[in-house]
Amino acid sequence: MSSLASQSAELLQRLVRLNTVNPPGRERPAQELLGELLSDAGFECELLAADPQRPNLVARLSGAREGPTLCLLGHTDTVLADAQEWAHDPWSGEIADGFLWGRGALDMKSQVAAEAAAGAALAAEGWRPARGTLLIVAVADEETGGELGAKWLTQNHPEKVRCDMLLNEGGGQSFTYDGRRRYGVCCAEKGVFRFTVTTRGVAAHASTPQMGENALLKMAPLLQRLATRSPSPLLTDPAKALLRGLGEDPENPREAVRKIAAQDDRLLPIVLPLLGVTLSPTRISASEKINVIPSAARLRVDCRVPPGLGEPAVRAAIAEVLGDEQIEGFEIDFTEQVEGNSSPERSPLMDAISEWIAEHDPGASTVPTAMPGFTDSRHFRAAFPECVAYGFFPHRHQSLLEAWPLIHSADERIDLRDLAFATQCYRDLVLRLLA
Ligand SMILES: [Zn+2]
Repeated sequence: MSSLASQSAELLQRLVRLNTVNPPGRERPAQELLGELLSDAGFECELLAADPQRPNLVARLSGAREGPTLCLLGHTDTVLADAQEWAHDPWSGEIADGFLWGRGALDMKSQVAAEAAAGAALAAEGWRPARGTLLIVAVADEETGGELGAKWLTQNHPEKVRCDMLLNEGGGQSFTYDGRRRYGVCCAEKGVFRFTVTTRGVAAHASTPQMGENALLKMAPLLQRLATRSPSPLLTDPAKALLRGLGEDPENPREAVRKIAAQDDRLLPIVLPLLGVTLSPTRISASEKINVIPSAARLRVDCRVPPGLGEPAVRAAIAEVLGDEQIEGFEIDFTEQVEGNSSPERSPLMDAISEWIAEHDPGASTVPTAMPGFTDSRHFRAAFPECVAYGFFPHRHQSLLEAWPLIHSADERIDLRDLAFATQCYRDLVLRLLA
């Protein structure tokens, strides 16, 4: 292993051993560990906190001349883990079979370690940006939405984290398509529009059902429609860019889906959500009492919307799948409305990434892609409209189809060769973009 690779592996091990399960988070020791490493190397470091136990680290390496700011972003919190389900303890950072195991090994202490190790190595060698600024930012609280992390930081200290280019999580795992290895570069995040469907009836004693009107049973046809119908494809620019990148026709999404299925149908669960609105019913409630016919039933639906689209697109999808509210007798109330956003698929940052991949994995290429969920990139794009934000952490060996099921699951682990590959990539991108 090169010394840069062993530095990022060692740092990842140390980060995994700090339990930062969110909630409650407790990211402070992780931010301090990173802050110490980066300030020893020559960065100016600051901890900025909404909650003192959960600070965000902003590390800055300024160049001699004015120029663009490149930010390498990561979050140090993780989701929980049940050690009994794991082959290796989730907080051991154990290395076995060529993998480093542990919660956060993919999402996303690995990327945090790779970014910090690359930046620290450059600064320690005496390198400084010829122009512009390198920022390394490690935030808290991503896994529950960034209220104390990226959202708070971009809203309360925009001048500290303003950037022109941002690299974050959400892309980079490779997959094979049409005989060629592809690396997704995530350019967009879908929006979140959650709503409640309510049906109404008349309460009665459950022993005499004919005296009432059961609101829960009125939910049955609606659930049936959600199970059997989906909204028509609705492609915005990022989804079109993805299909074009795969060599498929964005004007004919149904045909594109057929071709993707023929290539590898395991890609469909990842690609299909990017092609339109998704409606996922997740919770239902009705009567408070077992012996009372419910007068109201409520179904919660988690709905994700292509970037740039809002409530009208959701209402159209609801009408298509569930029918007309008045005619079918249900009510819709939105409980959350956050629009997704995107960055252009063409930019100097994309060129640098694509050229790096072409050099380091000959024959492979990049493909612009999008996230069915969302990451902290959304907060940065919202705060800094000029910022080009991509998700990119290149995995050459552990493919998208291998890595994706491990995220938030048992036995999360990273191939050490990929950690080394990504660390080298960040180092080279920094040198190129801030030259
Ligand atoms: Zn993450």
